[in-house]
Amino acid sequence: MDHVQPKPEANAAVASIPFDNSYARLPAHFHAAADPSPVSEPWLIKFNRPLAQELGLDADTLERDGAQIFSGNSVPEGAEPLGMAYAGHQFGQFVPLLGDGRAILLGEVIDRNGVRRDIQLKGAGKTPYSRRGDGRAALGPVLREYIVSEAMHALGIPATRALAAVVTGEPVYRERVLPGAVFTRVAASHIRVGTFQFLAARGDTEGVKTLADYVIDRHYPGLHDRQRPYLALLEAVAERQASLIARWLCVGFIHGVMNTDNCAISGETIDFGPCAFLDDYDPAKVFSSIDQGGRYAYASQPAIGQWNMARLAETLLPLLDPEPSEAVNLANDVIAGYGARFQNHWLDGMKAKIGLTDEEDGDLELVQGLLTLMKDGQADFTLTFRRLAGVAENDATEPAFAATFRDPAAIAPWLAEWRTRLSREAGTPQERARKMRLVNPAVIPRNHRIEQAIRAAEDDGDFSLFEALLTVLSKPYEDQPGFAAYAAPPQPQEEVLRTFCGT
Ligand code: AMP
Ligand code: MG
Repeated sequence: MDHVQPKPEANAAVASIPFDNSYARLPAHFHAAADPSPVSEPWLIKFNRPLAQELGLDADTLERDGAQIFSGNSVPEGAEPLGMAYAGHQFGQFVPLLGDGRAILLGEVIDRNGVRRDIQLKGAGKTPYSRRGDGRAALGPVLREYIVSEAMHALGIPATRALAAVVTGEPVYRERVLPGAVFTRVAASHIRVGTFQFLAARGDTEGVKTLADYVIDRHYPGLHDRQRPYLALLEAVAERQASLIARWLCVGFIHGVMNTDNCAISGETIDFGPCAFLDDYDPAKVFSSIDQGGRYAYASQPAIGQWNMARLAETLLPLLDPEPSEAVNLANDVIAGYGARFQNHWLDGMKAKIGLTDEEDGDLELVQGLLTLMKDGQADFTLTFRRLAGVAENDATEPAFAATFRDPAAIAPWLAEWRTRLSREAGTPQERARKMRLVNPAVIPRNHRIEQAIRAAEDDGDFSLFEALLTVLSKPYEDQPGFAAYAAPPQPQEEVLRTFCGT
């Protein structure tokens, strides 16, 4: 692309980032040039030095000039800022053109592991896709995305990453006037199901093929050698989604807005809006203020993942087979197989959470039995499993485990069954407990803690709670005695009932 970067400041820092912008080289209608709009008084809240190093960037310079660079005031050399075009089903309704309305892709770098990663500013001003939006982001959602995306990564769940956050020194106007901020996101790519839908909806089969080839090269190398590479691509994306959503369920994560434009082809968790973690276990739980029908409730996520894969399949039909009915059959088989893929990942994950490695009939029922008791007993999802690891090695901790249930006595028959089942597993109780603690986090980003961190930052300019949360959440599987309070569920008055989008 051929356009001139604005130079907002005479002394603007010029960081050297070795960009290699493959998306900008794709056909012109895939994207639109979009320069960041400068802001008045940027201030660097947070810079993720280890991630910068992983990306092979000059962390010292980026940190020193971070306010200018990560606000978009100073665009590093070699960047080709653009908004990506995409469509999307939003709560089931198809919108043929959405696109990056408040996100600007600076470019791509090859990280230390040879992986191509996108660097994107979120909230750096309007793009050609902004419609009536202001292209800006408020501080609260920026802190939320920073905390939750880094926490997901530390939990071992594929997710986009947080490279930096700045406040802009300018207000944004939502229901209230809020401090503006810019979030710098790093992703395996920002290609979404909606990116395919954008091209398919225009009848641009050639474009869909170009994008599919690009995605195979970037995320699924090797599939080009398969007999039906685009069918293999659909299968591979469905596999990653099934695995991802199973991982979400195993830690109590609710994405909140699983629209097809918020579903990344790479298999990373993306677009942390009104997302939240369960405290008490309730499969019907919804936090998002805009999800009135409960479309994206905790336990609805696997089915929505399948629905999203069906929308992806539709865009690929012309590439699957020249005979339309055969293309539909092939796609249907993949979509029909999604349920079993998900179930396998989920059951593996849940079995590990209760300390099972062997396969036996009745394992599913044992897992479901516990979940039913948790639901009826309003048990805290995270504490229940973490404390069960304690019970696995020390019977004396049983009262603490039982105390997470409203009626502690009700759990006794299940525990007896579980112990009988464990008696047929290899390994010592200590080994079992250790393994269980590696999959059952002690701390998750609890909603009330995020809310407290946002409140302190917004109201008092105090980022210490934000920092403390990042610290404790960087080691979620360890007991951290200095941070014991972060493992605790909210007090009734602290409980967060609703979460909101960043828009
Ligand atoms: P999201 O809710 O973040 O998934 O965004 C849905 C769509 O709305 C995307 O196309 C966004 O780019 C767009 N959008 C959200 N907020 C804004 C904003 N403040 N300005 C412009 N576009 C926005
Ligand atoms: Mg989005």
